[in-house]
Amino acid sequence: ASFEEMNLKEDLLRGIYGYGFEAPSAIQSRAIMQILTGKDTIAQAQSGTGKTATFSIGMLNVIDTKKKDTQAIVLSPTRELAVQINNVIQNLGDYMNIHSYACIGGTSVGEDLKKLQKGQHIVSGTPGRVCDMIKRRNLNVRNVKMLVLDEADELMTKGFQEQIYDIYKTLPPSTQVVVVSATLTKEVLVMTNKFMNDPVKILV
Ligand code: AMP
Repeated sequence: ASFEEMNLKEDLLRGIYGYGFEAPSAIQSRAIMQILTGKDTIAQAQSGTGKTATFSIGMLNVIDTKKKDTQAIVLSPTRELAVQINNVIQNLGDYMNIHSYACIGGTSVGEDLKKLQKGQHIVSGTPGRVCDMIKRRNLNVRNVKMLVLDEADELMTKGFQEQIYDIYKTLPPSTQVVVVSATLTKEVLVMTNKFMNDPVKILV
């Protein structure tokens, strides 16, 4: 399917073309529509396949920008990746009036608090800091609709299981979970069994 055929919001479609994308990559053709069904999804994909835009487009399409609440959270294994993802979201969401924020360790907690209080539709972060912000009640997750775990295999090898589980427990039970991983290791499958409801698997 082309991007037009995906039934995306007009202002998101403008953002996609504005960012320089002309046609969807293989994973985008297969996974965006799947994510838009609202079902839990596992996408097995490496860096370089267009995975970031896949979940970012899926996420941006479900954000209601009329509300200030945080509606989607992306967790990734490194600060650099969390910042990179946030940049992609801001670029793709350029015409949507999206507020998104990279919530990562090694930065000022006070700054996080200030930014989160302003209202961020999407938070892209590392598990430790996001967990901390939820515990301190600086990040309200009451209206979260989607949780994305990017590079889930890396998240597992870095030992983030417990923090991810602590975050997951605070989210509304109806939250859609999207997992992206280069390899479906035993640890990733244990987690997907715990967190996901009859997930659809997409291999690229
Ligand atoms: P990723 O797999 O998310 O690390 O993306 C790899 C690179 O592909 C990034 O530089 C993206 O900007 C680029 N990219 C992703 N999707 C597309 C697309 N549909 N058309 C052109 N470039 C893309």
